[in-house]
Amino acid sequence: VPLVLPRFLDRAVALYGDKEAAYCDDRVFTYREINERVNRLSHGLQDLGIKKGDHVAYLASNTVEMFEGFYGVYQLGGIMVPLNIRLKPEDYLFILNHSESKVLFVDQDLYDFIVPIKDRLETVEHIIVHYKDKETPEIDYDAWLERYSADAFNRAELDENDVCSLLYTSGTTGNPKGVMLTHRNNYLHALSTMHHFRITDRDVYLHVLPMFHVNGWGTPFSYTANGATHVFLRKATPAAIHNLVKARKVTVLNMAPTVLNALLEHHAKNPVEFEQDVRTFIAGSAPPPAFVTRVEQELGWEFIQIYGMTECSPVSAISRIRSSLPELSPSEQAKVKAKAGYPMIGCELKVVDENGEEVAHNGKEIGEVVYRGHGTMLGYWKNEEATMETIRNGWLHTGDMATIDENGYIDIVDRKKDVIISGGENISSIEVEGVLYEHPAILEAAVIAAPHEKWGETPHAIVVLKENQHVTEEEIIKFSRERLAHFKAVTGVTFVEELPKTASGKIQKVHLRNDHWKAQG
Ligand code: ATP
Ligand code: MG
Repeated sequence: VPLVLPRFLDRAVALYGDKEAAYCDDRVFTYREINERVNRLSHGLQDLGIKKGDHVAYLASNTVEMFEGFYGVYQLGGIMVPLNIRLKPEDYLFILNHSESKVLFVDQDLYDFIVPIKDRLETVEHIIVHYKDKETPEIDYDAWLERYSADAFNRAELDENDVCSLLYTSGTTGNPKGVMLTHRNNYLHALSTMHHFRITDRDVYLHVLPMFHVNGWGTPFSYTANGATHVFLRKATPAAIHNLVKARKVTVLNMAPTVLNALLEHHAKNPVEFEQDVRTFIAGSAPPPAFVTRVEQELGWEFIQIYGMTECSPVSAISRIRSSLPELSPSEQAKVKAKAGYPMIGCELKVVDENGEEVAHNGKEIGEVVYRGHGTMLGYWKNEEATMETIRNGWLHTGDMATIDENGYIDIVDRKKDVIISGGENISSIEVEGVLYEHPAILEAAVIAAPHEKWGETPHAIVVLKENQHVTEEEIIKFSRERLAHFKAVTGVTFVEELPKTASGKIQKVHLRNDHWKAQG
């Protein structure tokens, strides 16, 4: 039996046909209704000439329209190319041409990004607009879907090693790269998460992380196969998340630490009680341990840290505390939960030194995380050199530096590119940020390397303060010196209104480094 993704929706329709599959903008759809729309979509795409191996791009927020796109495209053997909604027209031009996409689905409110580049699109033959409410030459999705019957398309013969997704990475560290994932990658990842995230038909999943990002990507598979309900959210503001969790009795959501931080602030000002059990998976960057306690005490939700990357399909480790661990105090527990965690079923993680030798399992020695498992991408699209550099001897090199402890738990220390090297000592920017987040006046903090004559580099904090809070640079420096070894303490602070972030909520330190030191001369 080939491990191919359309099987997941088949299963949901057979077992949960009349159950609520999706809630989006006050519309409710059962699994049978979704399936019918998916089949119409496949029919329509087939009519436009889409066949096995063709690329179909989506520039869309989290909506039911994007959700049905997955299965509508996959049934034909097509390849989904989701586009980050926070890019610039020239970026879209690059990705659409680079990916050789033939059809582009786009939300009306994102269509303006496409107008300036339309004439230069080399392969896109059709543009289809979701929520169309303006006169444009493009096809209106709803009217177009209406034209097609649900029983007149030919399902493609699929092999599990066929590529199904071309996902461009977040671009946190530079230009995004196109990651090719196969049906098998996504299928086995879904099986692994079903187990580790304990997904059942009673779950209601709120799409906070963008579906174009790999972490929101797997959800149509693992949650759908189990007949869970999807709640879509086009604009994930803290208030909207908060309201929907309450109103739709959401049981699971994923977020980046920065989004969680904003949600905690919102909840502090607008406290409510949630009747249902909620678990939240935190991904994308390392959260300060202080967040674990706040989530549990203030929101009353379970906090689970996960670690992954696009190239691994993505999740490879989870931080739930094993019952075999010795009794831990609440603060020790928070520390363990804020770690990347233990490898999931089907994944292996090692922490290796420059010679590829495993470092000691003592939670102290630092090396690079390497990955081997069912999630390993097929490669970077049209970039064999980068593929060969990343996957060596079967191990995928993550570019993340970490320690591993005696229990096998991985703790991400930093990205290789973000480590601060001061007088020959490696300093984890994440560790320093963790301390700054303990300061009551600090809303957000990012620590980057400042050039230093004597030490080479020293930690410099870029800080956003909470509303109506005041604190001086000297006070923050003192605060960090009291809590960290002195060589790790920050030596300077810049106050800003806002930190630059990717669409999934990661702080783009590369921009901070560039902007900051350029501005300073
Ligand atoms: P690009 O590769 O384009 O620079 P990116 O690496 O941010 O972007 P993603 O694949 O979305 O693109 O993110 C994967 C990275 O996110 C990991 O390599 C790691 O650095 C970081 N990350 C993910 N989860 C965690 C976590 N739990 N703790 C710390 N870092 C994490
Ligand atoms: Mg990366």
